[in-house]
Amino acid sequence: MPEIKQYIPIVGQSVVDEIHFLAEKFKGKIVQNINSTFVGGGVAEILTRMIPLLQELGVDVRWDIIKGNEKFFNITKKIHNALHGVNIQITPKDLDVFLQVNQENAREINLYGDVLFIHDPQPIALIEKKKDIGKKWIWRCHIDFTNPQPEIMNFLKSYIEKYECAVFSAPVFSRDINIPQFLIAPSIDPLSDKNKELSPETINSVMECFKIDRERPIVTQISRFDYLKDPVGVIKAYKKIKTHVDCQLVLAGGGATDDPEGMEVLEKVKYAAEGDPDIHIIFLPPSSDLEINALQRASTVILQKSLKEGFGLTVSEALWKSKPIIASAVGGIPLQIKHQYSGILTHSIEGTAYYLKQLLNEPEYAKKLGINGKEHIKNNFLITRHIRDYLLLFLSLYNTGDIVHL
Ligand code: UDP
Repeated sequence: MPEIKQYIPIVGQSVVDEIHFLAEKFKGKIVQNINSTFVGGGVAEILTRMIPLLQELGVDVRWDIIKGNEKFFNITKKIHNALHGVNIQITPKDLDVFLQVNQENAREINLYGDVLFIHDPQPIALIEKKKDIGKKWIWRCHIDFTNPQPEIMNFLKSYIEKYECAVFSAPVFSRDINIPQFLIAPSIDPLSDKNKELSPETINSVMECFKIDRERPIVTQISRFDYLKDPVGVIKAYKKIKTHVDCQLVLAGGGATDDPEGMEVLEKVKYAAEGDPDIHIIFLPPSSDLEINALQRASTVILQKSLKEGFGLTVSEALWKSKPIIASAVGGIPLQIKHQYSGILTHSIEGTAYYLKQLLNEPEYAKKLGINGKEHIKNNFLITRHIRDYLLLFLSLYNTGDIVHL
């Protein structure tokens, strides 16, 4: 793991000094993160990078996960989809099982933190323990809350409002709820295996291993195989331009232990690819960070055609590598891309295809988008900014007056 001082050449001394200063103020308290998986997806990605750095700063931050069986994760995926506006039926029985598993976890997990930092809906009902044990509770929402199904939103709201505060990734997600809401965007770690500089040899060897031709343009989407990432829409956009530009498509991703839909989506993607040898469908095991890094760096254009997106770390990851990206204008993505300046925002398969053809045909324009994008990520979405925001959030829990004496 990198040390905090290694970020100074990237973000500057004053940013790192400020983090040290805030961390010093917060020493002595334990922050206990709880979510539903150690592996797969953006939440696990962020916690994996952030916790060691906070620990180095002297902040006692730890991470536990809730346990659940297949039935529970099928229900939480349904809840996840309903919160993303998908028309799906969640029955009272589903909600009973959801609450029962939360109660079991509330009994079994040692809730030792002074601050309980609960991520996403899966463990949300652990908050019921607050009446017995007190402590400070934060609910951190990483999902796209623009258009949730009202019934499930109301169900969750009764739990959310028991927390001290809620944290959302983008202003567009703030809701009519009765507790303070903070807006804290996620971040990427520029020194992780996924984002650090790579030698041309490393990139070449990964591309050889996946049998991807470096001579022709490469269009890539890195994402879990999830309907909401719209991999089939990506294939449709590719097919629209393939007759005009001889390019290859890479769809690479794995699953997450709390996402039971992955295999079903993967099958649909294979079917949609119709055996086209220029469509590379790559199922990545966990810890494929170097492979993802190399795939992103070798790409000519990166896509993120999500239908909903809490933030979309993959967008920041691509821009950090100065890659031109075409992404859907949904959820947290417009925070990262200013249309036609630091990337392209689209609303449809046709729009994606139109701009894909343009960027493949106009490499100078594509390059400019990538350069602007990198600057934007550097200024707004690196892990150091995220750590600072979290430290300020933790401090605010203990300084509820108007003036925070730092
Ligand atoms: N990712 C990964 N392996 C995969 C697919 C994705 O490590 O097979 C990473 C990806 O590079 C990014 C994170 O997982 O860092 C996904 O975060 P994002 O916010 O893009 O989407 P989420 O999966 O949380 O919906």
